[in-house]
Amino acid sequence: MSHKPMKPCKHPGCIYITTEQYCKEHQHLYDRPVPAEGVYDIRWNMAQKKYLTNNTICVECARNGRAIEAVAIGHKQPHNRDPTLFWNEAKWQALCAGCYKRKAQMKAAENDSLTAAEMG
Ligand SMILES: [Zn+2]
Ligand SMILES: [Zn+2]
Repeated sequence: MSHKPMKPCKHPGCIYITTEQYCKEHQHLYDRPVPAEGVYDIRWNMAQKKYLTNNTICVECARNGRAIEAVAIGHKQPHNRDPTLFWNEAKWQALCAGCYKRKAQMKAAENDSLTAAEMG
């Protein structure tokens, strides 16, 4: 059994000691929302930002003749956390908030049915 070392909270001016980066009081200030597609990081946020400066319109909505501002990247093909697929810009598509959410939900539904099938 190893214990995490206690360190001062990294929040400027905070006097609390914690085993995490920040104390309970301040942790929420630094929590990043977890994107629907899985374990992403700052690198993904940066890549996404860059991609969306060049791809400003949602491709799904554009197909329906609507120009909606894209706010997220969706993968055209399930990446299953394969980094090669995941980071391949050719597999990316710019999506608006609505389309991104819809796709994430569809994916969650697929995962559910997969699990159900696996369970037999
Ligand atoms: Zn603190
Ligand atoms: Zn859209």
